[in-house]
This record gives sequence, structure tokens and C-alpha cells, in this order.
Amino acid sequence: MGRSLPCVPMGCSACCRETTMPLTKAEAAKLVRRTGMAIEKFTWKNEAGILTLLNDNTTRACVFLLTDSADSNAEGMCSVYDARPKGCKTYPYVLSENDAAILDEGCPHKEQFPPPSEDDAATLLNLEERILSESQGD
Ligand code: SF4
Ligand code: SF4
Repeated sequence: MGRSLPCVPMGCSACCRETTMPLTKAEAAKLVRRTGMAIEKFTWKNEAGILTLLNDNTTRACVFLLTDSADSNAEGMCSVYDARPKGCKTYPYVLSENDAAILDEGCPHKEQFPPPSEDDAATLLNLEERILSESQGD
């Protein structure tokens, strides 16, 4: 889930469902330490070789989302909130094709977030660079 507002008040977990969220190796290692899970239990490498959060077969949501439902409008809580990847923290801010920070169309409450800043763009670019470089390093 993204920043605290409006996610919790709206009971939203849309961005944790059918997730394609990438993460760094350091973030994965932190989640291994935090959960005791093997990395293969919560990540997979997508077709571009990028380490990505895994969805649960039944709920079709991120394996860390506490939910019983596969309904994209159902509530859910992140079970690793304090250790969630940076991409989860910055969402719904994402990079545009021109490397500007924009509010992602996939967030149903995006109009309730402040406009993205230059700092958001810098954070996202830095994260993307790290993730891409790790995907090419294997
Ligand atoms: S790690 Fe948490 S915030 Fe990120 S997609 Fe999974 S459940 Fe959502
Ligand atoms: S989709 Fe938007 S409102 Fe919903 S949890 Fe994610 S960031 Fe928050």
C-alpha cells in the first residue's frame, strides 16, 4: 500500500493485488530476515529478469497482503508494512515514459494524493536504476 492517506481510511488494497512491484535484492533480504520466508516464496523473476513480488494463487494479491478475498475492492493489510519495498512506499507515484513522477492510473483514489514532486521523480529514478542494474548483473 502507498502513503497513509487515503489508503487506510478508504480500506483500499488495490495496488497490492495482481502486483507487478519490483524490489531490490537488499529489500528482498530484509523481507527474508523479517519473515523467515525463503526468497522464492515471495518473489519471482519476470521476463526481463527483474525481481518482482509474487502473488498468491488464491487471492491473486501480493503474498504479504492479509486478505481472504480475490476481489480487487476488498480490504487487506500489508503484513510487512514496516519492511515493504520502496516501490510500495512511493506508490501511487510512478515514473512516466519521460521519467517524470506521475500518479498512477491504477490507484482508484489518486486524486486524493498531493501532486508528485521532483523528489519523487529522483527517488523513483534512483530505484529504477538499481533494480535494472541488478537485473542485468545476474
Ligand atoms: S509488500 Fe505490502 S504494500 Fe507491497 S504489494 Fe505486498 S502487501 Fe502491498
Ligand atoms: S491503490 Fe492507491 S489508495 Fe489504494 S492502497 Fe494503493 S496507493 Fe492507497
